[in-house]
Amino acid sequence: MTAPNPRADSASKSPSNALSPLAQARYGGQKTCPISGEPLGSMGSAIPVTVQGQTIYVCCRGCVAKVQRDPDGSLHKVKTERGEQG
Ligand SMILES: [Zn+2]
Repeated sequence: MTAPNPRADSASKSPSNALSPLAQARYGGQKTCPISGEPLGSMGSAIPVTVQGQTIYVCCRGCVAKVQRDPDGSLHKVKTERGEQG
């Protein structure tokens, strides 16, 4: 058996992808706070906020209040970031 193994090559192709599945799943695919734009976790644990039945994450308590004041806009930003536009 001297056939090359194509799987080994393609599986290790994108190093950025190999590193981040956990990080991406961590906040439901969200990486930044929709209010401040800060990376989630950069100011301590991200805080979950439920908006229209969906959980989104913000970076701090101050942003929780802002999400509650503008739930539509906040949810939209999160969806855009997750690539779920609309
Ligand atoms: Zn914040």
